[in-house]
Amino acid sequence: NVKGGTALLKKTKSKGKAKGEVGGGSFQNMGLHPFLLRALTVQGYRTPTPIQRATIPSLLASPPRDLVGMARTGSGKTLAYMIPLLQRLGGRHSHAFGVRAIILVPARELALQVLRVGKGFVKGWRNDGGCHAGDDVDSAITTQLGRDEALRWGLVVGGESMDEQFEMISSNPDVIIATPGRLLHLIVEMNLSLAKVEYVVFDEADRLFELGFSTALTEILARLPASRQTLLFSATLPKSLVEFAKAGLRNPKLVRLDAES
Ligand code: ADP
Ligand code: MG
Repeated sequence: NVKGGTALLKKTKSKGKAKGEVGGGSFQNMGLHPFLLRALTVQGYRTPTPIQRATIPSLLASPPRDLVGMARTGSGKTLAYMIPLLQRLGGRHSHAFGVRAIILVPARELALQVLRVGKGFVKGWRNDGGCHAGDDVDSAITTQLGRDEALRWGLVVGGESMDEQFEMISSNPDVIIATPGRLLHLIVEMNLSLAKVEYVVFDEADRLFELGFSTALTEILARLPASRQTLLFSATLPKSLVEFAKAGLRNPKLVRLDAES
């Protein structure tokens, strides 16, 4: 019994800060890893946009909570999910086997764009010379992460050959950026396991639905572990998406910014 729009999600909209949530006025007081702060500075990101301010601290609060983020195109939604992703994964490769994060996007072009954004941050990540969140990075002894330590990204989009995709899966990527049809294909054809996935993002969710990916998305959801944190970002929130969010997300926090934000 859907009453349309966001009525059903509104009930879950949280007032005030969740337990464990830190202040969100600037990147510096979000409790981010110093290497992540350095990468933000190096790339010229000085202050978070409204959607970033509203989502990053709550995505990092514990226990992890699902989130629906609605804000117009160009409002900075990519970093709103990428910064918490990198912080949660520790910004480096895990030698334990299994994909840890999945970002689903509607098109190949967008996948490449998200990959560029993610890789831009990993450059700022260094070998840790006993440096912890809150420390001054430049006073710690740090060196560039070696090849084996750097976070591994996998692109799963049309146009890549199955051989290339097989090789990519074999390299044990930490994060996969995918279009839904291709990802489902890999899950089925190559037995790609999603059992270790901790963090899932549906980016441009309204477009994912407009392009007819809803069946593939439901199939992918069914293969994800229940313990995951799930995020859905969209510029609009039609009924079909509200239904999907109710099925795939657990008591999500709704962050909804008006047109001028
Ligand atoms: P959306 O996904 O909401 O359409 P994007 O994540 O693609 O928006 O970001 C739009 C533009 O804003 C990009 O060029 C990005 O580099 C820039 N941007 C994002 N966050 C910030 C920030 N905190 N400060 C300055 N520019 C930013
Ligand atoms: Mg976007």
